[in-house]
Amino acid sequence: MNALTQQPLLTTRSTREWQAADAAHFLHPFTDFQSLARKGSRIITRADNIYLWDSDGRKILDAMSGLWCVNVGYGQQALIDAATRQLRELPFYNSFFQTATPPAIELAELLAEITPPQFQHVFFTGSGSEASDTVVRMVRRYWDILGQPQRHTIISRKNAYHGSTMAGASLGGMGAMHAQGGLPIPGIVHIEQPHAYQLAREMAPDAFGRLAASWLEDKIIELGPDRVAAFIGEPVQGAGGVIIPPDTYWPEVQRICDRHGILLVSDEVVCGFGRTGHWFGCERFGTRPDLMSFAKGVTSGYVPLGGVMVGERVARVLIEQGGDFEHGYTYSGHPVACAVALANIRLMQQLKLVERVRDDTGPHLASLYASLAEHPLVGRAETCGLMAALQLVRDKASGTPFPPERQVGLLCRSHCFANGLVMRAVGDRMIVAPPLVMTRAQVDEMGALIRLCLDKTWADVQHQGWR
Ligand SMILES: *Cc1c(COP(=O)(O)O)cnc(C)c1O
Repeated sequence: MNALTQQPLLTTRSTREWQAADAAHFLHPFTDFQSLARKGSRIITRADNIYLWDSDGRKILDAMSGLWCVNVGYGQQALIDAATRQLRELPFYNSFFQTATPPAIELAELLAEITPPQFQHVFFTGSGSEASDTVVRMVRRYWDILGQPQRHTIISRKNAYHGSTMAGASLGGMGAMHAQGGLPIPGIVHIEQPHAYQLAREMAPDAFGRLAASWLEDKIIELGPDRVAAFIGEPVQGAGGVIIPPDTYWPEVQRICDRHGILLVSDEVVCGFGRTGHWFGCERFGTRPDLMSFAKGVTSGYVPLGGVMVGERVARVLIEQGGDFEHGYTYSGHPVACAVALANIRLMQQLKLVERVRDDTGPHLASLYASLAEHPLVGRAETCGLMAALQLVRDKASGTPFPPERQVGLLCRSHCFANGLVMRAVGDRMIVAPPLVMTRAQVDEMGALIRLCLDKTWADVQHQGWR
């Protein structure tokens, strides 16, 4: 018997059958395996534009762009064609042994063109987490070459997300991740995040931004400036809950890094490729980073790719004085991934997606959120480009949060799923980061779904007597 003809078509299994096979064999990331196996996974079978369909044929508006990545939306023929063409021509070759492939070279060239002028070089990785590993290796290597091996400490922030490898999770500031596997690795320390709602609800934003930046200088002085290699941060913290810092924060961080000669690393895995209405988040917030990690939006998630843009300050030292850099990945500069990234970036340029987010859909989302701020459940509504957060609160006047055990965010999220919307809950912060191809009308459509789900959650909260 031919094993192949025995295989059912991908779509012929029922939801129940998919769920059973999934529960039997597939360990999902960031998941309580046992509880998911009991509940059964949601099976997503296809997608187009900003919509998903599940195995029961239900249509869902994907306000999270997959996982912050499908910037050009689903089903873009240009990306499909680029991948197909490259798979046929040269599906793989490495770039380890003095070789390169045309897509990797062309993508390096295009990235140098669209990133800020200090970036003329790129180191490719397979993901954002691997880019974090590369950052740690490269930053420490830089100071070693300069004869300052004691400068090994990297400062990051609590509630940051920089990936899930040993280095990524260590750079990140997620307590639950650090609690498993002996993290963080040595030489990485964390300061408080610029989270105004959590830390300084009453304070004027500008003053809070300067205060939060001053925590970096305090830490540098505590450690000794000659021991600090770099500071890393996401321009807007994504997975942490779309924490948008006041405009005074990043320029002050830049001044502090300059004053002490330490490298500034911008993790652009979420903010890069248009999310904030600028090509890169550092341009929105006015910093001039020495290194910039990216992934997700570079290919709109169609295939995995990541990398680190290396500013001239670091590149010159690595190139002119460094000798061998003992680091790299099999898939560094994968030709298919690079071909898709090229098609993705060119499509973004053709469609003027970044400009559209900056001048049209971003401001439209901001005014939508200004009206959602009136909702009785919402304590704060914030947007930056096409990412946004709603802080759900128990008492609107004082901003008092719900007790965490109520899990009001999860309640709201379940209403979202039931009503055809993917909105993510980070505690009681409801966040969205929809595809950048979203039109104004689709922003309104998303807004109506969000409002409906807030109303349903509010009704539950009142019914339960939780306020
Ligand atoms: C997703 C993410 C990463 C990790 O990227 P992976 O491709 O999942 O390894 C790193 N930094 C930020 C800011 C992210 O959002």
